[in-house]
Amino acid sequence: TPKSPCRFFSKHCRGFAPQNISGNESPSLYKELPEHFNFASDILDKWSQMEKNGERASSIPALWWVGDQGNEVRWGFEELGFLSRKAANVLSDACGLKKEDRVIVMLPRIPEWWLITVGCMRTGIIYIPATIQLTANDILYRLQASKAKCIITNDILAPAVDSVVSKCQFLKTRLMVSEGSRDGWLDFKELLKAARGDHDTVKTKSQEAMTIYFTSGTTGYPKMVEHSHSSFGIGMTSTGRLWFDLNPSDILWGLSDPGWVKFAYGSLFSTWIHGACIFTHSMLQFEATTVLNCLSRFPITSFCGTPTAYRMLVQHDLTSYKFKSLKHCLSGGEPLNPEVMERWKSKTGIDIYEGYGQTETVLICAVFKGMKIKPGAMGKAAPPYDVQIIDENANILPPGKEGDIAIRIKPTRPFCLFSGYMGDPEKTAASERGDFYITGDRGIVDEDGYFWFVGRADDIILSSGYRIGPFEVENALLEHPAVTEAAVVSSPDPIRGEVVKAFVILSPDFVSHDPEKLTKELQEHVKKVTAPYKYPRKVEFVQQLPRTISGKIRRKELRNKEWGRI
Ligand code: ATP
Ligand code: MG
Repeated sequence: TPKSPCRFFSKHCRGFAPQNISGNESPSLYKELPEHFNFASDILDKWSQMEKNGERASSIPALWWVGDQGNEVRWGFEELGFLSRKAANVLSDACGLKKEDRVIVMLPRIPEWWLITVGCMRTGIIYIPATIQLTANDILYRLQASKAKCIITNDILAPAVDSVVSKCQFLKTRLMVSEGSRDGWLDFKELLKAARGDHDTVKTKSQEAMTIYFTSGTTGYPKMVEHSHSSFGIGMTSTGRLWFDLNPSDILWGLSDPGWVKFAYGSLFSTWIHGACIFTHSMLQFEATTVLNCLSRFPITSFCGTPTAYRMLVQHDLTSYKFKSLKHCLSGGEPLNPEVMERWKSKTGIDIYEGYGQTETVLICAVFKGMKIKPGAMGKAAPPYDVQIIDENANILPPGKEGDIAIRIKPTRPFCLFSGYMGDPEKTAASERGDFYITGDRGIVDEDGYFWFVGRADDIILSSGYRIGPFEVENALLEHPAVTEAAVVSSPDPIRGEVVKAFVILSPDFVSHDPEKLTKELQEHVKKVTAPYKYPRKVEFVQQLPRTISGKIRRKELRNKEWGRI
């Protein structure tokens, strides 16, 4: 018989004491998967009750939002519950949406984002987050691919939606979250004011679809990844506990954009499962000074960024900032270069704990709080995943051998793995090999069970019989003071077939140096710090690197250019 979600909460969220929990304890947590589960009623409403009973400090909000003008919104769990019930009524009454209907939510970091997503959970509507950086064509692709019935956005993006609306036969309702109104659009703020405050959360099965995320599109068209109610709502318990190290008095700020799954980790599920506070700032683009000011002004205890964000932060003079409350820093989304980690630590005294994951899997490996940090390694398998390095025949490889990073899916597919690529069973099947789901990333596991990232399978360079991963060469380059950023790809060569080429952004002090001399110097440097056969035979200095809208380096674009494929 399935255990009740209520028991889940009392056992794993309430009264949570981090010192009592070890990595080994978590799998038992996942064996108790209840038949029905809804994050809103089974977690959020429970915290709301705790707050009412005085069992969670009401001085720490559940959501702490700071706007560009320094204006703030602070909601406790009770207020969040009340407003999200109203939002649920807006979605089902005014928008006419029903359980299982799909909705694209394309909003910046505004408090209404949380009301709408929680409102969707309460009604069983499947929400599809999208980043506000999309163009009209991107929006059209997503509306058509997802068959969304409704799109929710703001006045800035509404015109882009309107420019493609005639081509979207599935779209019935447009809902705008802004001051002011627009023809053809419902007005969320007005409707919310008028909406009823009572709402009964629908019953949702643990394995029913809750959300669909688009991948970043680093290697091709973004894929639609479906996740169930339990996948995030229960699956992120250990992420919050072991990696973010959260308890109800913590305040976590994750820099991600609502359109990416990393936002779901840090700015929704992992945090609220443990009754902690989500801090967020409305900034539309990353601004290093805003980030540094917030970290010193607000009692933020935990901070999650990307390697790129940390790289930009350490370029500032950090001596004038004091991060009084900050105690735990995390990074994910791209490989974290040891160089960046070291510079952050030397300036703040705080380590960076890396996590590795995908839209499909959420957290796969991480350096958990308290674990030894091995610079350049992504940490150990995240519960409940059994992560292995496998070969092309799905055999498990021993430590030290490079292969595909894979997750065991047989005999039981982990409940927190995506349900499939929506509308693409072939692609879903192609992601499996033998007993495993293959991530598409290459790596090595060491004797201690730490995983080391080598590169995306497509980014591996084969030169004179050697397999060379870009990450290691990029790390070596970054250790040189002339290099701010580097991307390493394969390039054609008449003799070797393929050679290593580095695209390098120079730090300001070096831009006027002789490029030929610099090239030699960088090549010598790489030969010294890593196996000499990996050194870049070609070096090109550039002003910027091609990136996805989420900011990841698109090595594929550089590689295609080298090979004359575009
Ligand atoms: P697409 O699948 O559309 O090409 P994407 O793979 O970039 O895009 P995401 O799901 O956002 O989409 O990103 C997951 C990928 O990001 C991983 O497969 C891996 O290549 C990379 N990644 C994430 N975290 C790390 C990390 N800590 N170290 C190395 N790589 C990472
Ligand atoms: Mg991917």
